Amino acid sequence: MFHPAASALASILSTPTRLTRAGRFEAVLNHIAEEVEGLADRGRPADYIPLLAEVDPRHFGMAVAEADGTVYGVGDWKRPFSTQSITKVFTLALALSLEGEHLWRGVGREPSGNPFNSLVQLEHENGVPRNPFINAGALVVTDRLQALTADAAGRALELLRTESGNPTIDFVPEVAACEATHGGRNAALAHFMASCGNLTTPVPDLLAAYFWQCSIAASCKDLALAAGFLARHGTRTDGSALLTKSQAKQINAMMLTCGTYDAAGEFAYRVGLPGKSGVGGGIIAIVPGVCTLCVWSPGLDRRGNSVAGVLALDRFTTLTGLSVF
Ligand code: GLN
Repeated sequence: MFHPAASALASILSTPTRLTRAGRFEAVLNHIAEEVEGLADRGRPADYIPLLAEVDPRHFGMAVAEADGTVYGVGDWKRPFSTQSITKVFTLALALSLEGEHLWRGVGREPSGNPFNSLVQLEHENGVPRNPFINAGALVVTDRLQALTADAAGRALELLRTESGNPTIDFVPEVAACEATHGGRNAALAHFMASCGNLTTPVPDLLAAYFWQCSIAASCKDLALAAGFLARHGTRTDGSALLTKSQAKQINAMMLTCGTYDAAGEFAYRVGLPGKSGVGGGIIAIVPGVCTLCVWSPGLDRRGNSVAGVLALDRFTTLTGLSVF
């Protein structure tokens, strides 16, 4: 995409000796924010619950956290938004760390090629969801975490708080209640999987845990920092291991192939990074060994991914050359 400031940015980026890495990240983020400003169609916020539908689609924020915890941002990067399916990464990390390979008895690792809340594929495949990032798969992960800890949503919240260093990250009870009121499809997915013997938690308790985890509000800054263990090969901020190096690789691989639902191929093509989106308009993305990104803009495309968010990540990897390819 042509932008008048692009040549100025190109000259900044091509003078590495005159600019620190911090300066380069800041210049790139500011440039991307200007480009997004000029975007004519930013999509529409999710409308399945009123609390998401009424968020102003003009919000835009982006943060980059280096693996050592240094963090940069632009726009609304400190403003909390509804994390929604981004939380699925954190419940998966916890479940995998506690349960190991047994987790894969009840959920697969293949892209679905279907919408995130699809019922069709689940019946064809006897109640074993394709992957942990579509709703059915996330329900299985939350089921296992609930069985192991008795408080799956609380554990996810605790992980986000600890890794971001922000103890004020919290559930939003009104969002959780709204999710339950409008949760017919998730209830259908859960009841069907229970009928196939693929759940251990009673369905009402499982749905409650899932809706609470979806309701967590956090900012781009919080999420970029909190997902840092995926850029540090599984290591938490305190130096302990949440995941083995191999498990961190596995989660990154699944984010690349499944993290943006039936748009995962397009996302990999444009962005070239493991990523996970949520219908609140947030997306996290990982540059293993280097940094973690989080972008937020509430307008979504028809597959439920943030329009400006995907564009911003596309521009980031294009301008910096940082991708896994
Ligand atoms: N709360 C949403 C749902 O379960 C989360 C989906 C998403 O972010 N893709 O339908």
